[in-house]
Amino acid sequence: MLSRRIEPDHNCNLCSRLRQFREENRVRFPSYFNGPVPTFGSADARLLIVGLAPGLHGANRTGRPFTGDFAGVLLYETLLACGLASGSYAERADDGLHLVGCAITNAVRCVPPQNKPEPSEIANCRPFLEATIAAMPDLKAIVALGRVAHDSVVRAFGLKLAALPFAHGREHLLSPSISLFDSYHCSRYNTNTAVLTPAMFEDVFARACKHGAAS
Ligand code: URA
Repeated sequence: MLSRRIEPDHNCNLCSRLRQFREENRVRFPSYFNGPVPTFGSADARLLIVGLAPGLHGANRTGRPFTGDFAGVLLYETLLACGLASGSYAERADDGLHLVGCAITNAVRCVPPQNKPEPSEIANCRPFLEATIAAMPDLKAIVALGRVAHDSVVRAFGLKLAALPFAHGREHLLSPSISLFDSYHCSRYNTNTAVLTPAMFEDVFARACKHGAAS
């Protein structure tokens, strides 16, 4: 674990490409959040959900992970159905939705062009993921949304990707007390093509919750 900083600076300088994209977006979309999107939820959560990166007109606009992004609709509906959130999701950071026992973060905190972070950007942002995990003393389960999130979590624990390959529905032991649950990302493409159905997604969260409650 390299850094104790949980959140990057609003003007984080670690990735020149992402900084430049942010500066352009501040001009094009001045009302947007346009900064590294902070983790949503509290550090005493038992479950951490790790996504890829903010969408340009979603989380990068609202300043809350998955909020306003297509992927957020299924994610927040599933959390509400599983009792991991209360209130209602209205695609705004001030919709009053509360997370219950879970927190949501991204492997990369800044919006990347074309939704595709580069390997160096994922690596630059990993210390914040490591610090976020280290600051969660009750953490029992991590749900990784997609391979990029999975790989970054595995690396954050200093483990080998070859030993813990990503597969939807698979569970991996990260430490004596923390397990990783893999899911396909709840992206528009995956849900429109039924690569990921709402039932498949809910099943991953149900198992992660059961694990967190039981351990
Ligand atoms: N919005 C996010 O915050 N993360 C994702 O992975 C996708 C959309």
